[in-house]
Amino acid sequence: MSLFDKFQPLSAAQSALSGTGPAAIATPIESVHSATRGSINGNEVILAGTNNYLGLTFDADVVDAAGAALRGLGSGTTGSRMANGSYDAHRALEQELAEAFGWPAAIVFSTGYQANLGALSTLVGRGEYLVLDSDSHASIYDGARLSHAETLRFRHNDPDNLDRRLARLGKDARRALIVVEGLYSMLGDQPPLEAFVEVKEKHGAWLLVDEAHSFGVFGNRGLGLTEACGLLDRVDFVVGTFSKSLAGLGGFCVSPHRQLDLMRLASRPYIFTASPSPATIAGTRKALQKLLGGQALRAQLHRNFQRFYAAAKELGYRLGSDIPGPVAAIILPDRETALAHWNGLLAAGVYANLMIPPATPSGLNLLRISLSAAHSDHDVDLLIAALTEMTVAA
Ligand code: PMP
Repeated sequence: MSLFDKFQPLSAAQSALSGTGPAAIATPIESVHSATRGSINGNEVILAGTNNYLGLTFDADVVDAAGAALRGLGSGTTGSRMANGSYDAHRALEQELAEAFGWPAAIVFSTGYQANLGALSTLVGRGEYLVLDSDSHASIYDGARLSHAETLRFRHNDPDNLDRRLARLGKDARRALIVVEGLYSMLGDQPPLEAFVEVKEKHGAWLLVDEAHSFGVFGNRGLGLTEACGLLDRVDFVVGTFSKSLAGLGGFCVSPHRQLDLMRLASRPYIFTASPSPATIAGTRKALQKLLGGQALRAQLHRNFQRFYAAAKELGYRLGSDIPGPVAAIILPDRETALAHWNGLLAAGVYANLMIPPATPSGLNLLRISLSAAHSDHDVDLLIAALTEMTVAA
């Protein structure tokens, strides 16, 4: 009897996925040369399995800002925001995020995961409610575990189902926090946000939108789906991450409620961890500037994903979303077919993500291709050609 016995099924599942080539899960990436190129198994590949939606990881200004902070302020803060880890730049970034939304309060966390953990576990507690979309990201479920609130789930993207859940709470719905995402990362689908806002208002509940994958992608200034839908004055909290469009590491929560600041006094994932390094903060501030003024980048990203979606549909693939977006999830009938497609793409010089249960909703086996503003028109041609080759081979 060993403490490690319980990992046996996971280990067996992982072994079943490794063929002769590179592993499809936690694929070793030998090096990365640019936002869209890297080396795997000795071959150069197009990176189409990252969250680098605006392609800013190699932006010269972002890299210079991070480098200057590294040299000027050192490699780490070595402490919590509540102790020695709150530098001027951390506060400046919070100010810039708040101003971008036109709201009074923003808090920076050390990762996006911790932003959800910190916000959810602190905003609601004993005697209050969390009402989650059933397809929510693990960080949302883990935030629910850390809070002592009663957690309810509603059917994915189904405002009527949410309405019924809240109706059952009666007056208590005013102590309920609903959580939805601006873009679901596995299937690439979007919520009917306005309908959710209407249900929240009907019941006097609160709404948090996790824009991890939609920040930088949607809305004229790139603030996310909430901005794109014209709903910035009707939601209570937005959570985001620095690790996708902002090309760094960290997370944030912003709110039109000034009292959000009080959370700093009680949020364990904010207090009991070191703050982001100076380089991380400096790079993120520069990337945020680029994101807010990044209409041209967004136009290229949208052109890329519109073309890719149209081509994938034309080839007869079933996609996880009817609305084109930066995540194109190709639904394949079983794990073996998904793995064969993943290997086929890699052989054609394209790195995508293989996503399988339990990481996926509804037990789906997915080939997840993510587009970036840094993909040129020619890169998208290459991605489509690789997908076509795979179809012919299948
Ligand atoms: N929320 C969602 C919806 C996510 O997909 C992710 C990361 N995949 C996170 C939060 C956590 O962000 P991070 O990776 O920056 O910790």
